Amino acid sequence: MTLKCVGIFAMIQAVSLVPLSAYSESGHRIVGALADKLMEGKPAADAIKKLLGAVTLERASTLPDELRGEDKSRGTFKLPENPDLEAQLLAFREANPPSDDESETHMPPSHQWFHYTDVPIQANSYAATKTGTSQWDIVHMIAYCSRVLAGTEKPDNDRRITPAVAVVLLAHYVGDIHQPLHVGAAFLDAKGNFLDPNIHHEAKPDRGGNDINFGATNLHAYWDFDAVESALTYQRRSQGKTSDALTPHDWALQLAAKEPADWKADPSLKPEQWSEKWADEILPLAREAHSRLRFLPLEEFDNKNGKSIVSWTAIEKPHPGQSSYAVFASKAVEVELNKAGWRLAALLEASLATK
Ligand SMILES: [Zn+2]
Repeated sequence: MTLKCVGIFAMIQAVSLVPLSAYSESGHRIVGALADKLMEGKPAADAIKKLLGAVTLERASTLPDELRGEDKSRGTFKLPENPDLEAQLLAFREANPPSDDESETHMPPSHQWFHYTDVPIQANSYAATKTGTSQWDIVHMIAYCSRVLAGTEKPDNDRRITPAVAVVLLAHYVGDIHQPLHVGAAFLDAKGNFLDPNIHHEAKPDRGGNDINFGATNLHAYWDFDAVESALTYQRRSQGKTSDALTPHDWALQLAAKEPADWKADPSLKPEQWSEKWADEILPLAREAHSRLRFLPLEEFDNKNGKSIVSWTAIEKPHPGQSSYAVFASKAVEVELNKAGWRLAALLEASLATK
């Protein structure tokens, strides 16, 4: 049964259904700045400077999201620090334009697909699912960019991912793949029960949490923004610093001195194989990000354009003896941002070194 309703619920939906695709600007800047710091003085840093000029990894990290503005209004994307790179990024967008047809076989692919994958939370690994993954998802696109830098993918490829564009995309995608809802997705029935879409083909996807109302936002946006801001606020409070005294950049410099546990790749793997391992690693976190919640039945209404909108509402389960969802998410994000920064530096170094 579906419930059609209007009014305040519709207003919440109108806000929360804006498609989101990335860690917040703060989250991406932390990852980029961390990698900038870790690569200082290394040969790969010189190679990247030749490709990006005055654009740092910290600056590059948000460009793929800024490029999405071009999908709504042409002429909005500007990069005055490097006009040649601006032209390359616009050519990349032009070669991978947005599309309403989301089938994997649709060509050309949309650059908007490159930011995520939708592995069902029941799957034990990326490779274990047939549903939700594609040749154009974040796992494949990180590998593609790594190959462009390694020279095993030609620089004038059909996707128009030049070496400079590859660095910019990696500075962003490596952040995204460390956001659990960019990898794991729930597939639900109308009652709000989780289903494995490999078995239950009628299960509806939650679009990486974008279709799940959670508090005043949606679950995807909660992990993109709220959890990152909460992690930053915790740092400021525990260090007795204001937001001016501990910016995302400042925190990144601190994280560069804190090597995370278990971040290094298996030395037997090529850099282009790392992204699948990262996806496998974050799946349990994506699972917990859902299992700590209970879901109300599907709701449906028509928006002002007459389009049917569906969503579920998630509520935090009681958690006796456990930290709250907010603390759980904030701590998880700190670990993931730290790993993402260290891994971005390592991936760039390793990919460029194999050339
Ligand atoms: Zn993104």
